Amino acid sequence: MNPAVMPTYARADVMFERGEGAHLYDTEGRKYLDFATGIATASLGHAHPHLVEAIQRQAGILIHTSNLFRIKEQERLAERLVANSFADTVFFGNSGAEANECAIKTARRYHYANGEPERYRIITFENCFHGRTLATIAATGQAKVLEGFGPKVEGFDQVPLGDLAALQAAIGPETAAIMVEPWQGEGGIVPLPDGFMMELRRICDDNGLLLILDEVQSGMGRTGRLLAHEWEGVTPDIVSLGKGIAGGFPVGACLATEEAAKGMVAGTHGSTYGGNPLGMAAANAVMDVVQEPGTLERIEQMGERLMGRLDEVRQRNDSVIEEVRGKGLLIGMKCKVPNMDVVNAMRAQGVLVVPAGDNVVRFLPPLTIGEAEIDEAVAALEEVCRDLGQ
Ligand SMILES: *Cc1c(COP(=O)(O)O)cnc(C)c1O
Repeated sequence: MNPAVMPTYARADVMFERGEGAHLYDTEGRKYLDFATGIATASLGHAHPHLVEAIQRQAGILIHTSNLFRIKEQERLAERLVANSFADTVFFGNSGAEANECAIKTARRYHYANGEPERYRIITFENCFHGRTLATIAATGQAKVLEGFGPKVEGFDQVPLGDLAALQAAIGPETAAIMVEPWQGEGGIVPLPDGFMMELRRICDDNGLLLILDEVQSGMGRTGRLLAHEWEGVTPDIVSLGKGIAGGFPVGACLATEEAAKGMVAGTHGSTYGGNPLGMAAANAVMDVVQEPGTLERIEQMGERLMGRLDEVRQRNDSVIEEVRGKGLLIGMKCKVPNMDVVNAMRAQGVLVVPAGDNVVRFLPPLTIGEAEIDEAVAALEEVCRDLGQ
């Protein structure tokens, strides 16, 4: 690998040159079907005409000004997110981790504004992933992301997912919020137990805590709803977004109710690039597509088709695949063979998929994926299972 790039990633030795729709082409001219989408980020696939046009157009008008001034495209996206969600107000940054930083700061500041600055601790769940900044690795809590990075940022307590007794025991006079992914993404597309999010809401209400949902991976249409928590009928206080929100342009967002955000007054938080005209033009273009009548329903249908097909492959290959789970186009396949063997064999077949925790392989196609492409990916998996199952 190229030593000029800091070697923090275990990269596959493939380099892509261009993409079109659900396909990528590498520097050797080989074509791939992309069910990885840069980890649920290239949500409209590659070179989507509407996204390309929006970015090109905005680049020719105005790329960056500053949050010292009003930004038209930012106000427009914020209004659209507010109109279509629980939220009253939105802060824009450049990544999922930054969206979570804002969520954490917003929760701490809420209690400060209430005259209870001692309430700053946030409860998270084992096997979660919230990002790679110092605070979000503390929230993530796993030794493998914390090791060697000095004292862990104070104020995060972790309990097993689904363990209500442990959760109740972890709540103290310093607790500010509970933070959870509606589906643990990096952890292996792990669902919350039935009714668990509703229980979290009740516990937050009973204890004066804020409910923070990390929807960086599950949000912006991925599950067939704009936000995944809509499936649960639960109203959160704060939600973080990233990944697919701008189709690959770096944008993060922290959504909150007016009440939860009451401490976030002028001067409390900021970002140089956050919400700049170019990023917001990209995010608005993604929003255009996600909000088109029928898009979310189609994501749900395509998800059902893909999950159904994957489950048929599982039934025929139960020495390779243990379980298929997910919602919409957020799908995980738990393997009985090492998940990297499946990921590498799929790539050899020309299909890109993503490994995750719990020995899972993720299928994260563009939200615009079609039936033929789904069938092509499933056929490749069938081949892979035939080889690996022997
Ligand atoms: C990817 C991810 C993050 C981190 O996002 P970055 O843009 O890499 O900072 C945080 N939370 C969840 C749930 C994620 O999937």
